[in-house]
Amino acid sequence: MMFTLSSSIVPPGGFIYDQPLADGSHMRISGASYDNILELILKFRLVHLAVLPAGTQATQEAVLADYNQAVCSQYPWLCRPLDAPVPAAAAGQGAAFVPLFTRMLDNLNQLKNAGAIPYVDQLAAQTRANICLNCPQNVQWETNCGNCNQNLIALSYQVRQGRRLGCDSGLRGCRAYGTALPVSVWLADPGGDNKYQPPSICWRVRNPEVAT
Ligand code: SF4
Repeated sequence: MMFTLSSSIVPPGGFIYDQPLADGSHMRISGASYDNILELILKFRLVHLAVLPAGTQATQEAVLADYNQAVCSQYPWLCRPLDAPVPAAAAGQGAAFVPLFTRMLDNLNQLKNAGAIPYVDQLAAQTRANICLNCPQNVQWETNCGNCNQNLIALSYQVRQGRRLGCDSGLRGCRAYGTALPVSVWLADPGGDNKYQPPSICWRVRNPEVAT
């Protein structure tokens, strides 16, 4: 299966690519951003064609594919399948559609990279969860890539440091904010992109000073 990497995600260690060389060694290339690392890899290949393994291509398409492959094979939870289904709900939205899986993954990575995370207590988390359980924006997020789903679930446990509620199986993805609900209900600041209108029952609407 082919995977693609969101350009907004910073891989662990930064934007790094080990360009294989014909003698079996590699040249480590470091970039400042997603676009920058692609540009530097392409420049290196164009200048050093003679030392590259046979078959290596110095084109934008090849560089993009090779970099994504390198990152996604090392950190599969940062990537999503190229053929991930696009839900019908996206039709007519106008703006570019981003699958809920990707929005949730972006949110979890932002939280993970943010450092110390303030949590709420179990009573507050359960109160929020009870509202989400009856919310139409609490929807399925899983893709047809089992490993991708498992990686997102593992990241979810990591961000909430193992916190659980008895109703976790009913907490899925929040379509309104693009977040993983088993995580969001525990966070003082759950983050998210708020691409869609939450209903008036939403605890984030009712208590915006601590939950948006
Ligand atoms: S919109 Fe609010 S209440 Fe509904 S699922 Fe999302 S966080 Fe929960």
